[in-house]
Amino acid sequence: MAFSLPALPYALDALEPHIDATTMGIHHGKHHQAYVTNLNAALEKAPDIGTKAIEAILADLPSVPEAIRTAVRNNGGGHWNHSLFWEIMGPSAGGEPSGELGTLITSSFGSYSAFRDQLKAAGVGRFGSGWAWLMHEGGKLSIMSSPNQDNPIMDGKRPADILLGVDVWEHAYYLKYQNKRPDYLDAWFNTINWGMVSQRFGAAKQ
Ligand code: MN
Repeated sequence: MAFSLPALPYALDALEPHIDATTMGIHHGKHHQAYVTNLNAALEKAPDIGTKAIEAILADLPSVPEAIRTAVRNNGGGHWNHSLFWEIMGPSAGGEPSGELGTLITSSFGSYSAFRDQLKAAGVGRFGSGWAWLMHEGGKLSIMSSPNQDNPIMDGKRPADILLGVDVWEHAYYLKYQNKRPDYLDAWFNTINWGMVSQRFGAAKQ
């Protein structure tokens, strides 16, 4: 069983003007595809591990043979992170979440705008390449960030508790925003599919 690139749940230009179609095409079709291809190539050397779910592999990297562990960490992390990223964005999105999730964001961070500031600061403050995350744990929400293609699953967190993630690699924004990562993040908030994030929240609190 080999991993495969999930289809984008919307058109390449669906996130315009916040994320341009050219960036989306390269990001999904080239970068994400490369993570999948390289993950599958690495796992050819460990067929017993390749039958596991990607979440199970990432949660137990020490059990991956050392010769392919870094490749599995980088490319397996890249595959999982991007699969989440495409899902939690969408057209005609953004704004403030309502319902139970909106209430919990307010009680966890003080306000929606404080949540936004904290997630943006985590993304801007991540030196080099990486991700910023909105995490659920014990009925509260918090912000985390990771370098490279690492994610909180590698730190023992449940995949379901990772409610959303934002890619701050230059490949996610450089064509449109060049070096201005803060501008990319400001625009990115307009793409959050809160309906999907609320669904993830509903599953996480089960
Ligand atoms: Mn990326």
